[in-house]
Amino acid sequence: METIFYKSIGKEQEIFEHAYKNKLPLLLKGPTGTGKSRFVEFMAQKMGKKLYTITCHEETSSTDLIGRYILKGAETVWIDGPMTRAVKEGAFLYLDEIAEARPDIIVALHSLTDHRRSLYIDKTGETITADENFMLVATYNPGYQRGFKELKPSTRQRFISLSFNYPKKEIESEILIKETGIDNETANKLVKLGAKIRNLTELGLAETVSTRLLVDAALLIKSGLPQRLSCDVAIAEPLSDDEDTTNAIKDLISLSL
Ligand code: ADP
Repeated sequence: METIFYKSIGKEQEIFEHAYKNKLPLLLKGPTGTGKSRFVEFMAQKMGKKLYTITCHEETSSTDLIGRYILKGAETVWIDGPMTRAVKEGAFLYLDEIAEARPDIIVALHSLTDHRRSLYIDKTGETITADENFMLVATYNPGYQRGFKELKPSTRQRFISLSFNYPKKEIESEILIKETGIDNETANKLVKLGAKIRNLTELGLAETVSTRLLVDAALLIKSGLPQRLSCDVAIAEPLSDDEDTTNAIKDLISLSL
């Protein structure tokens, strides 16, 4: 199996290991594309754990996560959902974008995130105590503009929390080089461009350029697409649908490359 690449930004590996040891659920906060999912995949591999990932959205119900009865011939049989499997098997359960989850899922999480460490399955009437190796990790993006879902303080306080943000220049360059095989000079140019866009608060972007977008631009450049075009389609266009805004970013791109 290929080793997952993850470049540490701070003490996140230590914090994760201590959270695991103390059976504390962990919340990763921060903007999209800052390495949260990569970090969890890396830690699962490093610690030799199976990882169940669920991207929460408004349609995800507790039935999808906990399990359901299905018809098999003339019989109905119970099928565990990914959350129940993770709890029983002592795996890592990663709930991406937890604020998007339906209230019934948040309710199901309550007993799992306190001293009980148990999951109640209302459809079967069973209560399952989590295997001692089970760990819950969730992500939350607090930067969203008004209208997006907030995480309730009562849910938030069930987790220890770790903030993710855009990495320092040298670290971000290293990530681009390792991820895409791009040369040093181009990586540095992309990172500088990223920093400039992040400083342009007057653009009023809901979210600014992430490491993910810089990686995408680097991949396109590495595969032979011209630099400016790569940045236009990987950076300027994904950041906004407003023509004036994308044009302003495109101007910055042509000045920077
Ligand atoms: P998030 O889960 O925060 O939205 P991801 O973990 O999906 O972000 O990261 C997006 C991409 O950015 C990854 O696929 C990877 O290429 C790159 N990346 C960001 N931060 C790191 C890091 N610290 N180490 C390695 N790759 C990173």
